[in-house]
Amino acid sequence: APYQVADVHELLDSTLLMLSGKIGSRIEVVKDYDRSLPRVPAYPGELNQVWTNLIDNAVGAINNAGGEGKLTVRTALDRDQLLVEFRDTGPGIPPDIRGRIFDPFFTTKPVGQGTGLGLDISWRIVVNKHHGSLEVQSVPGDTRFQVRLPLTATES
Ligand code: ADP
Ligand code: MG
Repeated sequence: APYQVADVHELLDSTLLMLSGKIGSRIEVVKDYDRSLPRVPAYPGELNQVWTNLIDNAVGAINNAGGEGKLTVRTALDRDQLLVEFRDTGPGIPPDIRGRIFDPFFTTKPVGQGTGLGLDISWRIVVNKHHGSLEVQSVPGDTRFQVRLPLTATES
């Protein structure tokens, strides 16, 4: 199927709305959008799945640490790519598991609560299908997942 032309802010807003019940009122959501960003070639349904996975993880991390916290969704132009960053104030990702979180079925959640597929699927959607990148930086209290998407279509 061909790319569509997607407004990432519309996609982010619809995902945030869909997850608003799960996010709840104890988590502050901050939208730090650069509204001047262009639309990008994308598979919108699949990008929504990426946003869902990353927000779900952020919310889970915050809830794990008492439930009070902040989720910041930021967009920006980064060289010739569109950056979408999800930042949470949760406990962070211990260095000893950092190298495994993108592996299929890797999870630290109790049995039945995590499939360990969210980041694997997100990686495949962002990197393989959109020719973008997915990176993580984490210290306790500040975890950032950064998605970068090309502004123009690349042949697969
Ligand atoms: P699942 O959410 O089902 O465990 P994922 O692939 O989405 O699977 O994530 C894998 C693991 O990465 C999680 O179990 C958790 O240990 C870690 N992780 C992902 N996102 C975060 C985050 N924002 N903060 C802390 N740990 C995270
Ligand atoms: Mg997950």
